[in-house]
Amino acid sequence: MLTRRPKGTKDVLKDEVYKWRYVEKVFADVCKNFGYEEIRTPVFEHTELFKRGVGETTDVVQKEMYTFEDKGNRSITLKPEGTAPVVRAFIENKLYADAQPTKLFYNTPCFRYERPQAGRLRGFHQFGIEAFGTDKPSIDAEVISVVSVFFNRLGLENIELNINSIGCPKCREEYSKILRDYLSDKIEDLCDTCKVRFEKNPMRILDCKRKSCKELIENPPYMVDHLCGECEEHFNKVKEYLNIAGVEYKVNPKIVRGLDYYTKTAFEFISKEIGAQSTVCGGGRYDGLVEEIGGPSTPGIGFGMGIERLLLTIENHNIELPKPDDLDIFIVTIGEKAEKEAFKILFDLRNEGISADKDHLGRSIKAQFKYSDKINSTYTIVIGDDEIDNDVVTLKNMRTGEQGEINLSKLIEVIKVKLGR
Ligand code: ATP
Ligand code: MG
Repeated sequence: MLTRRPKGTKDVLKDEVYKWRYVEKVFADVCKNFGYEEIRTPVFEHTELFKRGVGETTDVVQKEMYTFEDKGNRSITLKPEGTAPVVRAFIENKLYADAQPTKLFYNTPCFRYERPQAGRLRGFHQFGIEAFGTDKPSIDAEVISVVSVFFNRLGLENIELNINSIGCPKCREEYSKILRDYLSDKIEDLCDTCKVRFEKNPMRILDCKRKSCKELIENPPYMVDHLCGECEEHFNKVKEYLNIAGVEYKVNPKIVRGLDYYTKTAFEFISKEIGAQSTVCGGGRYDGLVEEIGGPSTPGIGFGMGIERLLLTIENHNIELPKPDDLDIFIVTIGEKAEKEAFKILFDLRNEGISADKDHLGRSIKAQFKYSDKINSTYTIVIGDDEIDNDVVTLKNMRTGEQGEINLSKLIEVIKVKLGR
């Protein structure tokens, strides 16, 4: 137990962590280009927030939450997703009083009690954005384009954007009747969750992952064919703005999204390459959510993207992300006096922003060279008593094998020029 991490969690080690840092930076850059500001919310919230914000009929709330009582008998839940906490923060900090829209992005750990498999963990991470304060279709297209530009910048192609409209409470009510009619002779054979959905929000039955439910529902009526005039016009304009932005999409009437609070636009980015867990990113409009959670009626739209799933997709598309720079300089030392001198030089180098290191295990000179090679340092120098006295060292370029003498006292200047800094 002590040396095993909990099921469904992951360590991110050297070979992978640079990829995380890279995608995190690109995501933040793209969000900034679109005028989104970062928001950070706590890792846990009151359980009630997710029950309300995510919806009682969702898998997340029914089966997947990490909920516990704290020592003050409060029911606390580890964030299973990013939207509800951002909405809570939007209301609590009165961001609605600022000039609108409020455009936010986040990068957060999430927790869901799920059966772990490739691309499905219990502890995972999400990128996301939320835009509050307008229901204009241009913002829907903008939010969707953030993902599209992000993927382009990573060199990710062949990820299909599927869009749909799931209407508003008004047309959904009408459509629910039609759908219940269609489902009326199938209800006995639906799973228990879907039986509840039949009463509360039958459209969510179309999103059931169970094979038995999927097989029952072959040619159902779709929401997109029963939109009211306003929702239809909104959807048409979203498509128009996507065309203007040059973002390709497919209208997929089956996209329903797992969360209860979605209205109008719903979308998913689907990779063909990772099999079952193919949805890299999902999002949509949630015009009722802010009010549902206790804020002033405010429209909103956003998406959430699994970072682990994104990295898996990047891997499956054979995309090499840029590796971080290697150590700039390794100092091989001969003797105790030189070792101490090197220790000081290292700090001078590091203070100048040059990455530098030396041996800390008392290795032989030969072994120090070998180690310098092993950690892929760009330059190596050797310092002994003579070098200190004469102020001359040999600087070796480990890539080319080229070497030359330089003044030890000019090391920083020379290295900077060589590294082009
Ligand atoms: P799925 O249908 O795959 O279960 P979902 O509808 O539960 O997805 P959302 O709640 O929309 O997913 O979360 C947004 C994104 O977060 C997903 O598209 C996916 O990339 C990622 N994600 C969701 N659950 C997990 C998980 N357990 N492990 C890793 N990533 C996840
Ligand atoms: Mg899920």
